[in-house]
Amino acid sequence: MNFLAKKLILNKLDKEDKKFIAPHFRGGAVTPEDLRRIAEICEKFPESKIKLTGEIIIGAVKDAARNEECRRALNLPLYSVAGFSLRPVKICSGGYICDNNLQDSLGLGSRLDEKFSGSKLPFKMVISVSGCGRCCSEPLVKDIGIVATQAGYSLFVGGAAGARPRIAVKLAENLRENEVMKAIEKIVSLYEKKGKTPERLGFFIEKMGFEKFKEEVIK
Ligand code: SF4
Repeated sequence: MNFLAKKLILNKLDKEDKKFIAPHFRGGAVTPEDLRRIAEICEKFPESKIKLTGEIIIGAVKDAARNEECRRALNLPLYSVAGFSLRPVKICSGGYICDNNLQDSLGLGSRLDEKFSGSKLPFKMVISVSGCGRCCSEPLVKDIGIVATQAGYSLFVGGAAGARPRIAVKLAENLRENEVMKAIEKIVSLYEKKGKTPERLGFFIEKMGFEKFKEEVIK
């Protein structure tokens, strides 16, 4: 890469970096004081918006009665971190604090979350939506990944991180939002009926055969 091209890229990245303020919590460990400080500072800048890129998980409240008391006191929707179910949909920051999104990926991700998260399945399932090809929410290592493009959405299936990582395979492209919703409804229903515990979607597809799976979903 020549000097000028490199300088242009670095300037662009620097400009982008300055749009975001990202406290570094080593190992993701935060104290109530850290959270309080963020809340107080952001209240002083009411135009600010906070976006989590990982989960907030409260652990170490081991006594069952205290754990229950803590859950009740939070009075927030909770989800199962270990169950055989569809986890909260991961959505990138596009359309919220990032303006690189090519479609209303935040709206689509929110609708998917409302419709599917918490569904009981043969094993864990994760859906991820990204607003552009930078794939900040890592859709290519999720069971179902959706990536916005100029022409609509690309749909990927069968990815996974963790102990048996897999890269997702493209199932369809140039989909409109209602087509994505329908395709995911079919995938979830197929996996719910025919999937076997503890088989992630990628292994289910491998066993069924990609072409047959595609035929079932994109009829
Ligand atoms: S994937 Fe694209 S739209 Fe989403 S946060 Fe990253 S850069 Fe922004």
